[in-house]
This record gives sequence, C-alpha cells and structure tokens, in this order.
Amino acid sequence: MVGVRNVTNLNLSVFVANKCYQCGYCCTKRPCRYGSWDEAEERCIRLTKDNKCSIYDEIVEIEKGNPFAMMGSGCSSPLFNKMRDEKILEVFDGVQSVST
Ligand code: SF4
Ligand code: SF4
Repeated sequence: MVGVRNVTNLNLSVFVANKCYQCGYCCTKRPCRYGSWDEAEERCIRLTKDNKCSIYDEIVEIEKGNPFAMMGSGCSSPLFNKMRDEKILEVFDGVQSVST
C-alpha cells in the first residue's frame, strides 16, 4: 500500500472523496437541525470534547427509514478541511500499522 504521507502534491480531501470521517468540523461551523449553537465555545452544544456527536444514536433512530438520512450521507465540507485531513491520516496510519 502506498503511504498517504508519502504522496506529494495531493489534496487529501479529493483523494478520499466525500466520506464522513467524524472529524467534527461541520459541527464547529453551524448546528444541524438536531443541534444548538454554543456562542461561547463556537460549536454545537452536542459536540463532545473529542469532536463526536453525543446524540448520534438518537439521530439515527429518528431518521430510520429516511432515504435521505443525515448520518451516513457523506461529508458536507470535504475541501480545505484540516480537521478531516488529520482524521484521514490517522485512519490510514492505523491501516498501515495493521498491514505491515
Ligand atoms: S447535533 Fe450532532 S451532528 Fe448535529 S451539529 Fe450537533 S454535534 Fe453535529
Ligand atoms: S466535516 Fe465532514 S468528515 Fe467532518 S464530521 Fe462533518 S461531515 Fe463528517
């Protein structure tokens, strides 16, 4: 497997298409319809300190059967997203350490 960190001049955001890597970036820009904005922290009040949605399971349950469900529909902000790029590198580093 080619090491992602060894690929030069590559925009990771494009390389890994629009998959959601649960980086939490979008929830620091605006809340979804289930969230609420925390002015002081500048992030959704449902976002945990490690950038996870604390009501993920509830949202999945509410949207069960919805063909356009929010969770699992991909990334809304893949471009120029450093938080997501870092998550992708973590994932690929993990895959490489298992396969080598
Ligand atoms: S409710 Fe969850 S998915 Fe929606 S903005 Fe807040 S943290 Fe993100
Ligand atoms: S910015 Fe994209 S990858 Fe990050 S949590 Fe939001 S949808 Fe998922």
